[in-house]
Formats: sequence, C-alpha cells, structure tokens
Amino acid sequence: MQYEAVIGLEVHAQLLTESKIFCSCSTKFGAEPNTQVCPVCLGMPGVLPVLNKKAVEYTIKTGLAMNCRIASYSRFARKNYFYPDLPKGYQISQYELPLCEDGYLEIVVDGERKKIRIKRIHLEEDAGKNIHDASGFSFVDFNRTGVPLIEIVSEPDIRSPKEAALYMKKLRAILRYLGVCDGNLEQGSLRCDANVSVRPLGSTEFGVKTEIKNINSFRFVEKALEYEIKRQIKLLSMGEKIIQETRLWDAQTGTTQSMRSKEEAHDYRYFPEPDLVPVVVSEEWIEKIKRDMPELPDHKFERFIREYGLPQYDAEILTEERALAEWFEEAVNSGGKPKEVSNWIMVELLRLLNEDGKDITECSLTPSKLVELLMLIEKGTINRNTAKDVFEEMYRTGKSAETIVKEKGLTQISDSSVIIEAIKEVMEKNPKEVERFRAGEEKLIGFFVGQVMKLTKGKANPKLVNELILKLLKEE
Ligand SMILES: [Zn+2]
Repeated sequence: MQYEAVIGLEVHAQLLTESKIFCSCSTKFGAEPNTQVCPVCLGMPGVLPVLNKKAVEYTIKTGLAMNCRIASYSRFARKNYFYPDLPKGYQISQYELPLCEDGYLEIVVDGERKKIRIKRIHLEEDAGKNIHDASGFSFVDFNRTGVPLIEIVSEPDIRSPKEAALYMKKLRAILRYLGVCDGNLEQGSLRCDANVSVRPLGSTEFGVKTEIKNINSFRFVEKALEYEIKRQIKLLSMGEKIIQETRLWDAQTGTTQSMRSKEEAHDYRYFPEPDLVPVVVSEEWIEKIKRDMPELPDHKFERFIREYGLPQYDAEILTEERALAEWFEEAVNSGGKPKEVSNWIMVELLRLLNEDGKDITECSLTPSKLVELLMLIEKGTINRNTAKDVFEEMYRTGKSAETIVKEKGLTQISDSSVIIEAIKEVMEKNPKEVERFRAGEEKLIGFFVGQVMKLTKGKANPKLVNELILKLLKEE
C-alpha cells in the first residue's frame, strides 16, 4: 500500500525585543546565568506583569506578513504546569483568543507554488533553562524566563519532509526580513516541533499522530521527519498500531525516541490571566504597522526577475536574506549590470563569506567597490582572472580595486608587441608542440595560451593572446 505523510509544524520564534515580555530585564543572549532577572520574571508573589508593546507589535507584523487576520481583541491565559525552569508554576500564553489567525505562506515545491495554511500565531513567555552538570547536580538559569516568543502553528498541509524544510526556510526568511527574530537555530531563537501521521494515499482521514520535539536545524527537520514517517509506515504495514505520543529527535543516533505517551500528557488547566487586561488592537495601529512593513521575500523575488531579468535561481538566492538583496540592489543602482553583479555575489562573494563563516552585514567590501572593479574589467585595465584575485584582496582589506591594481602592478597587457614576444618565447621552448599543432592537432591551442599566460603572470589580454597565437602558429 502507498502511504502519504501529513505534517503540521509548530515553530517558536524568539522576538528581538530589548526587554522581556512582562518586565524591563534584558533579553541579550549569552550573559552569566541569573544576571538578567527581577521579581517579575522570577515569579515572586505580589508582583504584576506589564505587557511589552513592542512584542505585540512584532506579533502583528508577523501575522500581517503571513496573511493572518489580526484580532481586535485578544487575551492572555495561564498555562499551568510544574517544572523547575518555570518559577511561577504557570506560563503566560494565549489560548482561545490569539492575536493572529487564519493565514498562510507560500512555498515553491518542484517549481509549483503551494500554500501552507497558518492556523494561529500567538504570543507567550519563554521558560528558563535547566543545566545538568556532569557531577550530578542540576542548575537553573532564569535569564531566558519571560523572553517573548511567538508560536506559529501551521495546519497539517505539509506532505513531505522536503516541504517541511522549505516551509521552515520561508518562515525564517520572513521573520528575518521583518527584523522580529534573528532566526538563529543554534542559539534556540527558532525552535520547531512537528506533528506527523501517515495515511493510505487517497484517504482523507487523519491517522494517529506523534509529536517530535527538539528539532534544531533545517537538516534535522528533514531527517527527523523522514525517520518518523518510515517508522510509522513500517508499523502500519506490519498491522501494528501507532501510539499517540511525544517523541524526541536524537541527532546522535538519527532516530526518534519515545518521551511520553498521551496518558502521561499534561492537562494544562488553562484559564484567563487575571493580572493582564485584554489586548485591544485598533485599526489605526494595524494600518500604521502595515505602512512600516518592508518588501517581503516573495515580492522581492518576483521583482528581481521582472526588473533585472535574473534567472529564478539567482533571484532565489539573492532574496533569501534581506541584507544580501539590498547589497545586490545597491550595486546595480551604482551602475553594475544585474546579471554580472549577481554572478560575482553568487560565485565569489558567497564563497568567501561561507569560508569565513560570516554574514554579508560583516563584510567590509561595499557594493560600489564591486562596481569599480567591474568598470576596470570593462575598460580592459585588468582581465577576468586577475579580477578574481583583486576581488578577494578587496574582500580581505576593504581597499579599492584601483588601489590594489596599482599597488600590485596588475594592469592587463594589451600591447601586441609584448604579447608577440611572449608567444615567440613559448614557441621556441616547445618546438614539438608547434610541430604537432601544425600537423593538425588543434586542441593544443589551449596549451599555448596557458604557457603565455603563465609567462605574463596572467596579465596578458586573453582575447589578444588567442588571436596572436593562431596567427603566429599558422604562419610557417
Ligand atoms: Zn525581569
């Protein structure tokens, strides 16, 4: 029997606010444990939470970007459970009245657009972090307690691990474009839980689902889902039942392991949070947020193809990160030819950034400096090969192309007499090859070009070299 997977994702994204959701403590990552805490986020008796307006605004922004309906009236709820990293004994979250509902985002699967519906986006506070020491002691760090999170819950519209990864990537791109989340999976700014079930292909009923927790990279999203789908299909085809349970992804073994079954699952006893007034969002506020929204990745992608004639592949890579897209556009606006700029970014710049593990925002090479380099190639001052070295030097030092070309004496040799000298020298040193070429072995042309370029330290104008070699080899 053929099976299909039914997947829904719940993504937690940490909002980039400077202070926590209900107090003024800092949200900065990496501080000494328990240095960013106060009576409010430590859950001391008698203190009152005060809602961070920025966090609400970021949630609305995200909701608008994901085509959601923004609730004019929403409310916080207490989610009760006991765990050492939760000092209050409850988490303030949203339950029956979330801020955003009924949206979607689009992914492109094998060239086809597909909508993944978003059920809801709600705002909540993060818990602290338990640290288990090798010596057997456990510690709790409350720095993260009260950091604002949004939970983005999709409908079960995802049909394969690949679609899940595409969805995650699109989600991350949008959050980063909006500037509401840094999207850092390793630091836990973006966390993903997946609900998975399988059913006979063609069936419309849902099978029994399991929830996989602890997925913290794009690669793991795919791997964990692939494993879990295979596991479920194997059980069903052996006539066994799937148990509804929570499973943990174990990256070490590449498997999912049972964590707790439904019987042990929590009953959260939700009730409305009495210390916070309902959130009322006016039309004016929504309009104001709409006006401040940046151009989003899908729109930029379409525009790059339309306006600059870029191939889809280029447009996709260039619009993945807002900063990269803006770098590209700045270069084009200062006179670079779009496809040429795109090639330099995709082949040279991204390679260097990748090698250094750096972001485009940490790059000292400016778009206008790339354009200067392109001008030097166009004028024939340097050839393409030399330009690659100059580019790398520009990237490392931040110097201008012209300065580097001058300092290193890299100006291209376009003087025919100098090139002819070099060709003659190469021919004299390689009489056998000359003979073979003249006997009809035309592919040897590459050898001669290579030798001449070597002799001129790569500075000879390649077009001239080709023309002149042919001429000299053919005259007896
Ligand atoms: Zn605090």
